[in-house]
Amino acid sequence: MLIWAIRGVTFVINLLLLTGFALLYSWLQQTRFQFSIGERLRNSSQTALTIAFLGLYHLSSVLRIMSNHDSKAFGWSYLAFQIGVLIFALFFTQSRWLFTYLSVTLLLWYWWLPNLKWWGYFFVASMLMMYVAERFGRQIIDRPLLYYPFCALFSAPFMWANWISLNGIAPGWLWEISASLCISYLIWFIHHRLKCRAEWQALLIREARQDNLTQLSNFRVFNDDLQQAFKDYHENGTQYLLYTFDIDHFKRVNDRYGHLEGNNVLKLVATELIRLVPKISNNAKAYRVGGEEFSFVVFDSRTQQDTADIVANQVRKAIDRLQFTTKQGRRFQITISMGQDQIDDEDQNYLDVYKRADQRLYRSKETGRNRVTTANEP
Ligand code: GH3
Ligand code: MG
Ligand code: MG
Repeated sequence: MLIWAIRGVTFVINLLLLTGFALLYSWLQQTRFQFSIGERLRNSSQTALTIAFLGLYHLSSVLRIMSNHDSKAFGWSYLAFQIGVLIFALFFTQSRWLFTYLSVTLLLWYWWLPNLKWWGYFFVASMLMMYVAERFGRQIIDRPLLYYPFCALFSAPFMWANWISLNGIAPGWLWEISASLCISYLIWFIHHRLKCRAEWQALLIREARQDNLTQLSNFRVFNDDLQQAFKDYHENGTQYLLYTFDIDHFKRVNDRYGHLEGNNVLKLVATELIRLVPKISNNAKAYRVGGEEFSFVVFDSRTQQDTADIVANQVRKAIDRLQFTTKQGRRFQITISMGQDQIDDEDQNYLDVYKRADQRLYRSKETGRNRVTTANEP
């Protein structure tokens, strides 16, 4: 009875330890290092963590033999967790470092196991499984029908070798299989929870940076990109041009046809902008900077200011040509007013260029709408 209680408590503590390992390992995987040797540091710290946990479980099993003076079933409770550590590490990292160090650790372990004559065969079998785990782990774990048999296959050489080494002492196979199943499930569960959280975070980041209606980047991204471009200009002299436009009398569209039709107009204008912008330059990007206000920036020093009027009018005319049809079959068109400017040596702030382009946009509005005002005009 006491033996089973000790087994149970040890098992739960080891499960918690494995959970700690998996969370720490994943945290290292996702941490963004600021310095250039970051990737190397990530690989080495993950490798060190894996080997440290393998060593910790190994030490526990050795201490247990020493304290019990009885090798019966000693290694089994720890072996399954060591296999769990290996599976988790290999499934989620493709790193030559990790693979090499684990191979050496494995070699030492098989070689050290007492009474194991043909250890080379076991080592080769484990290497093969490790290779499959490293290459295809992520695909395997998302398919339960593959994942659990794979875990069993992965464990087989270790279990068999340990069994031979212990002169066939039965570990209590039912216990051992149930424990291994529990560990495999824990690994799957941690992976699944972390995956859901990562997807949720990615969605939140996308939502925070992308306009939901038009799928264009929003003002936050516009702001960040301008800040970066301003920095690049002062560091490398990379020029950039900014165009900003506003739909004329858009309130009337809403008032006449309703807000849903208004939304539809915004979506189609954005689609047209997404189509046009790559034609202007490979290094241009469009944004929705306000309600019915859009901007696009050409981050390309080869694009010259003297062609700004041509570019601006191309976009204005393309939007002018768009035909909108309401659900009731009423057809209408829209016009836009645009302002443009480029980065200037005198600029004190990254938003100065936007302020100037915006002032020119208002000049277009004041001088009759459906027109462009670029920095080429005095
Ligand atoms: P102007 O030519 O001077 O720009 O006139 P305007 O009517 O376009 O400008 P105003 O600022 O008076 O109105 C802008 C309108 O844009 C008011 C607002 O309801 C509408 N709007 C802003 N965002 C959205 C949106 O996401 N969907 C819809 N349907 N309308 C929007
Ligand atoms: Mg408007
Ligand atoms: Mg407006």
